[in-house]
Amino acid sequence: MIKELKACEITVNGLVQGVGFRPFIYRIAKIYDLVGWVENRNDCVKIKVQGNSKKIRGFIAAIREETPRLARIESLIYKDSEIEELQGFKVAVKDNITDRSTLISPDVSVCHECLNDIKTQSNRLNYPFVNCTNCGPRFSLIKATPYDRDNTTMNEFLMCAKCKKEYENPLDRRFHAQPNACCNCGPKYLLVHKSRRMEGVDSIINAICTLIKDGNIIAIKGVGGFHLACDAQNEEAVKKLRTRKNRECKPFAVLMPDVDTVRNYAHLDEHEEQLLLSYQRPIVLLKMKRELASSVSVGLDRVGIMLPYTPLHHLIFESSLFKSLVLTSGNVTDNPIVINNNQAQKELIHIADAFLLNNREIYNRNDDSVTVVVNSRPRLMRRSRGFAPEPILLKFESNGIIAAGAEKKNCFCIGKRNQAILSQHMGDLKNIETFEFYKESIIKFQRLFRFKPELIAHDLHPDYLSTKYAIESGIETVAIQHHHAHIASCMAEHGLDEKVIGVSLDGTGLGDDNNIWGGEFFLCDLAEYERYAYFDYVPMQGGNKSVEEPWRMAVSYLYKTYGKNFVNMKLPFRDEIPNDKVDLLISAIDNNINTTLTSSAGRLFDAISALMNVCLISSYEAEAAMRLECLIDEREKGCYLYEINETIMVKEVIKNIVNDLTAGINNRTIATKFHNTIISIIVDVIKRMNNVSKIKVVVLSGGLFQNRYILENLENILEKNECRVFTHKRIPTNDGGIALGQLAIAAKRRELQCV
Ligand code: ZN
Ligand code: ZN
Ligand code: FE
Repeated sequence: MIKELKACEITVNGLVQGVGFRPFIYRIAKIYDLVGWVENRNDCVKIKVQGNSKKIRGFIAAIREETPRLARIESLIYKDSEIEELQGFKVAVKDNITDRSTLISPDVSVCHECLNDIKTQSNRLNYPFVNCTNCGPRFSLIKATPYDRDNTTMNEFLMCAKCKKEYENPLDRRFHAQPNACCNCGPKYLLVHKSRRMEGVDSIINAICTLIKDGNIIAIKGVGGFHLACDAQNEEAVKKLRTRKNRECKPFAVLMPDVDTVRNYAHLDEHEEQLLLSYQRPIVLLKMKRELASSVSVGLDRVGIMLPYTPLHHLIFESSLFKSLVLTSGNVTDNPIVINNNQAQKELIHIADAFLLNNREIYNRNDDSVTVVVNSRPRLMRRSRGFAPEPILLKFESNGIIAAGAEKKNCFCIGKRNQAILSQHMGDLKNIETFEFYKESIIKFQRLFRFKPELIAHDLHPDYLSTKYAIESGIETVAIQHHHAHIASCMAEHGLDEKVIGVSLDGTGLGDDNNIWGGEFFLCDLAEYERYAYFDYVPMQGGNKSVEEPWRMAVSYLYKTYGKNFVNMKLPFRDEIPNDKVDLLISAIDNNINTTLTSSAGRLFDAISALMNVCLISSYEAEAAMRLECLIDEREKGCYLYEINETIMVKEVIKNIVNDLTAGINNRTIATKFHNTIISIIVDVIKRMNNVSKIKVVVLSGGLFQNRYILENLENILEKNECRVFTHKRIPTNDGGIALGQLAIAAKRRELQCV
């Protein structure tokens, strides 16, 4: 009897190459008893199967349901095909590719099976470089495409016979796992402590556990760069790290062995737990329950925690008694993280007591990613390891466009067809080494993604190094307003291509009237914006100094509100700032020396934070606002008065805060009332915009939406007001996401001109 025999051709698009997809197809084809083949094509995987039609249906369902953990299926199309003479199921090893897939997998945390292998496989006992098609480094070691071993930094290691056999067996988990290695053929760690050099993983692990226990700081080479590690419960060690790193207050991230341990120290809901355990293994900002060493997270109520993502992390926790490690970027302040051994021993010599080096080269530097959960939704605040360079799909063509990004927290972005490929975190371009890293990474991206720039989008600010880079590139340029780019980045993330109400509350960005914007309400689409409202201008004197020293903005707001009379007022912060400094600032404002006007909401938060004597000098970006947020008492529902005319006036807010301060009202109440006021202002302005425009789609973007109290409340209130609210999830709301917005705007404008 002949069963119903059918032939079917299947095309799968998405992140399906270099992620164990073909062996997966091979395995399920065997399970469903089908003959045929699978091969990599330009941007897809092609599959042909023949057999019983019911089994073919089961096979297709299995592709969708059992997708390997690194693969992302964007589309799966199947159609009937001719019955051919086929025998068995074959994996085409030679790929049928002309213009290679642009998709490169991010780095991925070690999988359970590999962790099991280092306990059971004789050639991988405690081997810290174990990996398979489901896990391990990818982006950090790819030098060129196609993704073959020769094009990775693993090309220096010749696979032994055993590894090679796995690599060539379609049924093996390590079939075409490019970084495949074992104790006998792969990279190795080396511990350098003073004049001692130690090899052999077991003795190394023991030695560093002892060193850490004794309060030492270790520089450890990881996946995307070096970390500096010390015992997070040893206050002396953490303090020493702060002093040596010259990092006064900026919080450190902490590595903990498992979720149970995390729960001992921090409040954890199911979404946060899921995020911690996700294969990207980002840092998750969590509300502290019990303190680690007090220097870990100075003055804040949150701590960034992550779980082990390399075999080495697991090995360290297994052999030690400590339950938490500070694991912070291995860099000299503001420089990019160190990625090579010599550089580490040179640059980190005054910070680290010992160096754990290895001989696997890191090609693409990649910091840890940072996330937070707000309103049960994960949000990326720094998008790097585990996420970059996974593309964001656009609803339109962006080929040949490169977006230079902003200045701080820079990422750049390139467009390949409808894909926006956002780079890993670069950092603050003002730092020379970071700017070098930026330029070098753009060249690397051009090669990796076979990208030829035709149009470069940049920020309106002429002094940003990214702008200078764009202008000097010789490519056609397009300048894009900072806050329009913020809104567009959120629109692009959500596939919006229509007129929206865009609210961008931010630090600073140049406006088209040459003032510094940052508290903006736009009616806009991807091509254009109309400025509907903004926070009334105040003078901002001293350029960057006014960002670094929030007390200056407090003076600015007080001066605007009271004139010179405020000088005699008794305010808590005035004890710290001498009169002559205040006088100097006022006269500089009067004489318009190095003074611009700003509508920045970030600067308003700075002003309030300083006015309340919470933070007068900021030792890291947004410190003043973060400290203010820490004071929030959710039971307080009060709000200050404000005025909305052509601009948003906060004179009454300042006056009422001054009154509250003088009346001895506690800081928690004042901080909360101030936050409630900002929320109320935003809702009010949006309502007016709803009325005049009939638009109900609201997009929120900009650095200030890192404030969870504001974000959470706004989402809830606006949704109740029947708005469709879009906020960032996969892309940072801060300047790390801006390049995506620049790219989307440039693409849209180019498209419209073509019409
Ligand atoms: Zn694995
Ligand atoms: Zn081997
Ligand atoms: Fe910004």
